[in-house]
Amino acid sequence: SPSSTRKVREEKILVTVRMRPLTPREIGNYDLCAWDCVDENTIASTNLARHNAATYTFDRVFDPSSSNRTVYQLGARDVALSATKGINATIFAYGQTSSGKTYTMKGIAEKCIDDIYAYINNATGSSFVLKLSAIEIYNETVVDLLNPDSGPLRLLDDPERGTVVEKLTEEVIKNSQHLRHLIATCEDQRQVGETSLNDRSSRSHQIIRLTIESSLHDESGCSKALLASLSLVDLAGSERAAQTNAAGARLKEGSHINRSLLTLTNVIRKLSGGKKTGHIPYRDSKLTRILQSSLGGNARTAIICTMSPALSHVDQSRNTLAFATSAK
Ligand code: ADP
Ligand code: MG
Repeated sequence: SPSSTRKVREEKILVTVRMRPLTPREIGNYDLCAWDCVDENTIASTNLARHNAATYTFDRVFDPSSSNRTVYQLGARDVALSATKGINATIFAYGQTSSGKTYTMKGIAEKCIDDIYAYINNATGSSFVLKLSAIEIYNETVVDLLNPDSGPLRLLDDPERGTVVEKLTEEVIKNSQHLRHLIATCEDQRQVGETSLNDRSSRSHQIIRLTIESSLHDESGCSKALLASLSLVDLAGSERAAQTNAAGARLKEGSHINRSLLTLTNVIRKLSGGKKTGHIPYRDSKLTRILQSSLGGNARTAIICTMSPALSHVDQSRNTLAFATSAK
């Protein structure tokens, strides 16, 4: 298989932090800004939080005035485009509920569509087939967002392809408008879910996966095929992850802890710790099983950690920054 002959790359995870503006509601509540984006790499607590002052550095820090375009270009673009070159890629938004994950991932999806189509339209001598699938993981149950009435889907272990979602819809994409439309449909689908159970979006993970198959034709008529996927992941609210130490925490039955989120944070910590031999607990949750081939090894990963600037959220923001630090 192509993946076994490819050289293993040791790319580190791209970790950025985006601080959103105070919302009108926070301003109305006289909430204050507890953090300063000191420069493009540094975030620090303001003197409001001086009882626990701290400074953090990352690959990039996006201040509240940063646009989705900027966040995409500096925090996601290289990783996203690697999927056009046969390298699996994953982009996550991680942060507490209301910190801006969905706002950010909608923007990223939008820019990815433009960029991937620009790339395809410029790549002479190649042909491309794009496919889209989309799932939601809620309480360790997998739902097909392109066919939500199909009920819970099972995961299967395929000897060739690794973990696959059984009976998952894969739409062949006709053009960029079609892709845009399908992604909007998935987003609507998730909104519908939200009205029936208020905090569903804070508990569920959404994965939009674009598969890109490219064939490069040379003059002799030979063609070389590359296959890779780009996964865009809007995670459950990080308040669903336990406050863990570097070694990770155990999952308690019946707690509010989200198994997939906790396992993901453990996997990311192990991967970023540079351990090549240790056990990585991909098998412990649905999310990490599904993403296994898109994390670590030959894959490229970007994590955009979103945070509220508000003093009222300072403890959750601190947890997010601690996770972001452990992922570097
Ligand atoms: P989450 O998905 O993490 O729960 P949302 O993306 O729904 O959070 O964002 C919460 C609110 O903040 C929404 O009203 C959203 O429009 C707003 N918001 C989030 N990020 C930004 C930003 N960078 N600029 C302006 N408004 C934002
Ligand atoms: Mg959301």
